[in-house]
Amino acid sequence: MKKAILFFIVALMIAPVASAIDRMPAEVKPAGVTVVIPRQAIDNAPALEVFTIIHHARPDKPGKPGKGPKGETCYGFISGKAKLIETENVLINPTNSGMTEEDVLNTIQVSASTWDNETSTQIFGDFTKDYTADFDTYADGRNEVSFGNYPQNGVIAVTRIWGYFSGKPNSRYISQFDIMFDTDFAWGDAEIDATLMDLQNIATHELGHTTGLNDTYSDSCKEVTMYGYSAYGETKKRTLETPDISGLQILYGI
Ligand SMILES: [Zn+2]
Repeated sequence: MKKAILFFIVALMIAPVASAIDRMPAEVKPAGVTVVIPRQAIDNAPALEVFTIIHHARPDKPGKPGKGPKGETCYGFISGKAKLIETENVLINPTNSGMTEEDVLNTIQVSASTWDNETSTQIFGDFTKDYTADFDTYADGRNEVSFGNYPQNGVIAVTRIWGYFSGKPNSRYISQFDIMFDTDFAWGDAEIDATLMDLQNIATHELGHTTGLNDTYSDSCKEVTMYGYSAYGETKKRTLETPDISGLQILYGI
């Protein structure tokens, strides 16, 4: 008699669970069914690879055209045709910039427009002031621009991009980025004061990295925006040269 009661109680406990499972066939994913994972979950997956691209200071001397390797294109890519695959919003923390918040936000937006203006693809979306934006060592799903001290001398700025870079060329893409401008330098508008590090100049270069373009270091490429060195007072990277635009349009179209 006791056994029968126990069996009855256990059966009562199991029954609702079993029937609940029966009523949820959609929750069981048989092999071969595509499961859509939210973009955020993909971006934060540990398998994301990272590149850190450092922009060094070097006194500027005029370029010597023709000294580069034959067939020099003056543009290159970070990883095959890896590029941003959707319009990216950007958070900007103007703290420690030494500039007004308005100037920092406006300047970085102008730099982004410089790239967006040369392709029909809308690469960059909204730029928002955010005091929590920082330069991360991990992928947090946010594109952040901030000012801080990179622990290495002579570094003007550093860009970190996360994405998939080692798979088949067609499967590679950039999922997110962070940029930090080094507070070892005095930032501002070098067209007004040539003793400053020009924010628009450097931001245009760094945002070029976030689109998938790499540095170029050849002497014959000193005039292009993606040339890998800069100096106080420099403003020539504010505007794109033909090689910068060629590289951009290979990734994003005309
Ligand atoms: Zn660079």
